Amino acid sequence: MSQSPKRNIPISLPVTGEEEWQATREPLMSGWLTSGPKVRQFEELFAARHQVPHALAVTSATTALHLALVALNIGPGDEVVVPAFTWVATANVALYCGATPVFVDIDPRTFNLDPEDLKKRITPRTKAIIAVHLFGLCADMDAIKAVSGEIPIVEDAACASGAAYKGTPAGGLGTLGCFSFHPRKSVTTGEGGMVTTADARLADVVGMLRNHGASISEEQRHHGPRPYILADFNLLGYNYRMTDLQAAVGVVQIGKLDRFIDERAHWAAYYSRELKGLDWLATPVHGGDYKHGWQSYVTLVDERRSPFKRNEIMEKLQEKGISTRPGTHAVHMLGYYRDRYGLKPEDFPGARIANDFSMAIPLHNRMTADDYAYVVEALRTLG
Ligand SMILES: *Cc1c(COP(=O)(O)O)cnc(C)c1O
Repeated sequence: MSQSPKRNIPISLPVTGEEEWQATREPLMSGWLTSGPKVRQFEELFAARHQVPHALAVTSATTALHLALVALNIGPGDEVVVPAFTWVATANVALYCGATPVFVDIDPRTFNLDPEDLKKRITPRTKAIIAVHLFGLCADMDAIKAVSGEIPIVEDAACASGAAYKGTPAGGLGTLGCFSFHPRKSVTTGEGGMVTTADARLADVVGMLRNHGASISEEQRHHGPRPYILADFNLLGYNYRMTDLQAAVGVVQIGKLDRFIDERAHWAAYYSRELKGLDWLATPVHGGDYKHGWQSYVTLVDERRSPFKRNEIMEKLQEKGISTRPGTHAVHMLGYYRDRYGLKPEDFPGARIANDFSMAIPLHNRMTADDYAYVVEALRTLG
């Protein structure tokens, strides 16, 4: 193994280059820069890949989640159940609607919401459940549906492009699905998101909401018989439109999604095999009913057995040029939520464990075989 002192393995690095650069040429030359033909093409490819009838491109997973809740008429007095261990945006969107986020604990082995705890969090005011497919592993949707009754489920599939549960791709497992194309995710448009749904009416509403509430899109109007007549506005909408520049990149990226995931799955299996001997490090759950999307490879450190504490391990790896990160954060422990709702770390023990002991190690499509071997060796020889 090479011992270059300059080794620097980032936690994540998108694969973009010549093809994506060339793809942006068309919208730039045509002058159609905002949502137009490239967005439509990206939506069609995304819908086909995820086997859903409708896909609507927006500016991020955060705005996708916001629109999903608005489309479901979530408002003041309503409760939205969200996992306590997720990116902060999952909870924020409930507040954007004037609703109350109600946290549910997670299982620190899967990092996904615990259906047993979900039962206890549902009240007559629960108007939506956001099921997060964290790090690319789908939530146990059948177990969730067994307790959710008629309550709509919104999938936070920000990390789950290309993932599947019992053969059904993410995005088609709930009432609405929300994806992210941030550079930390498997495929990227810089910033960007997608809402998916099988419900034609909800698709219609999301389509209007993302475009100021306009009854028809600019493209429909410009290319329609009377481009001089402005659309009507019957809803309070937003400007959450993806640009054609971003979608042009998305069209190229979505074509690479399965190759990216296959390659990540190969190296995830390598990690899990090579790290099996470390009794203090739990490797991610995968397989069986779950096709993992491998947005990231998140381990759990058992500090009762590990040679050092999680943060010391992260420090030692950093010194060796290996970036690591906590998987994500426990939202109930973040200042805003802690103070606003008077929450204590121990209120959600699973989320607290994940917050304090999870450790993502590098897994992305710009790593070499040598990089993976270097990470394994570094973990094995920590002590
Ligand atoms: C990244 C992420 C988001 C936010 O996605 P953006 O596109 O950056 O808004 C939301 N939820 C989860 C679980 C995420 O990982």
